[in-house]
Formats: sequence, structure tokens, C-alpha cells
Amino acid sequence: MPRGRRKRRREIKRVPRSEAFLPEFDRGAVPEGLVTRRQLRDMGLSPGGNDGPVAILRCKWCSYRPQWSCNHPTRGFLLRVDLAVPKRVPTLAQEWALDRAMAARQTCGDCGRRFFFCLSKKLGCCIECFDGTPVDPSSYLAPAASAAHRLAA
Ligand SMILES: [Zn+2]
Ligand SMILES: [Zn+2]
Repeated sequence: MPRGRRKRRREIKRVPRSEAFLPEFDRGAVPEGLVTRRQLRDMGLSPGGNDGPVAILRCKWCSYRPQWSCNHPTRGFLLRVDLAVPKRVPTLAQEWALDRAMAARQTCGDCGRRFFFCLSKKLGCCIECFDGTPVDPSSYLAPAASAAHRLAA
């Protein structure tokens, strides 16, 4: 049985470096003030005023081919540090609101136990209250009511 024509390896279109639409820099030769998105994140910054990359960090493979532009998936996109802004840190109130919303989705309306996962909206209660299937005791916190009771006693 003749084998089907072997799929040709996807060719990478080569573009002369002079026609590349963004300036390119080799690893280790990046001018000051330009970093990759990941470096920006590691510095606790978000892109901020950067709208799009301003330069390309050439991949390792391309350092042997300086006359061609790098359009490989391993290339990096460089952003300007001076336009970046500090990442927004959620305030305590926002975190509380988030926790309240999570609590509502994780607490059973019938038995009041809070689970470590979100309950099915359709059931509106935990599976034990729904059809008696026992739930794993390690999957929920004691109901708030009984905790208050214990404190009062
Ligand atoms: Zn490359
Ligand atoms: Zn329940």
C-alpha cells in the first residue's frame, strides 16, 4: 500500500532582517529599559502604557543567522519599563467581597456547611441534603451556627 505523501514540514517564512517590522535584539544585547513581558511580571509591574511590543527578542537559534529576522515562536516581545505601572493590589474590602461571593457558592442552604468547592447551583444544597449521599467530612467546614454555639457555651 503506497504511503500518502509525507506532509511537508511547515516552512518558516524567512524575512530579511532589514524588513522586519520591529527592531530585533539578541539575548544579552537588549538595550536598557526594554524587558520581556515575563520580566515585567517578575518585577511586579503590568504593561501599563505599553500598547504592544516595541522590539523583538530574537531566539537563540537566530543568533547564528543575524541577516534574517526572527519570526519563531520562541522569540520574545520587549516592552518599555518606563511605561509600565505597578500591578494593582486588591484591597482588603475587595478580598472580603470576593470571599463573601465564594462563601455563598460554597455553603449549603440546608445544613449550613461550607464546602471547599462550589456547590451545584441547580441543587442549591449539598449532595447529602439532596439525596443522602454522605459527603467526605474533610471536604467541608463546620457550619457557622454551631461554631457560634460552641463559643456561647
Ligand atoms: Zn528565531
Ligand atoms: Zn447540606
